[in-house]
Amino acid sequence: MSNDSLSARKAERDRLLALLETSPTHVGLGVFARRRLKSGMVIGEIHGEVCDEHPEDPHYCMELPTGRVLEPSAPLRFLNHSCDPNCELFYWCEEDETPQEDRLWLQTIRAIEPGEELLIDYCWPADAAIPCQCGAEGCRKWIVDPDELHLITNPAEPPSEDGKPV
Ligand SMILES: [Zn+2]
Repeated sequence: MSNDSLSARKAERDRLLALLETSPTHVGLGVFARRRLKSGMVIGEIHGEVCDEHPEDPHYCMELPTGRVLEPSAPLRFLNHSCDPNCELFYWCEEDETPQEDRLWLQTIRAIEPGEELLIDYCWPADAAIPCQCGAEGCRKWIVDPDELHLITNPAEPPSEDGKPV
């Protein structure tokens, strides 16, 4: 990487760290706002390692537009899930809607107060779902894509290894 892009990366990281900080939560580290963030604000690009396949511990991974996965680096690595999120991941598409690049960004979907945790909806497939502890009103009880919630039939048991409901 050239010095220019390294210093650009550092400037972006400094900008992120001025907006956000990581602090412990009941589910591990989380990402919190240092100041008020407007609704619809682009927080920044999610940087990290792009992998062709899900690594051993997929819990930090984010699906990329082309189907590859991104293992984000700190601090955005520590974004936690909520069934009622205040942020979302997005990517830019050309008009024909073909994803151009394996790049993801984070934006707020409502205003966030200082000290409030930034939360996204992980929307995991049913075969990766785990019980949800987000505590939001209307919590789906599972960290799962709402469209795949019906694949989880027994709320006491996680789905089996092959992804079929137990
Ligand atoms: Zn939940």
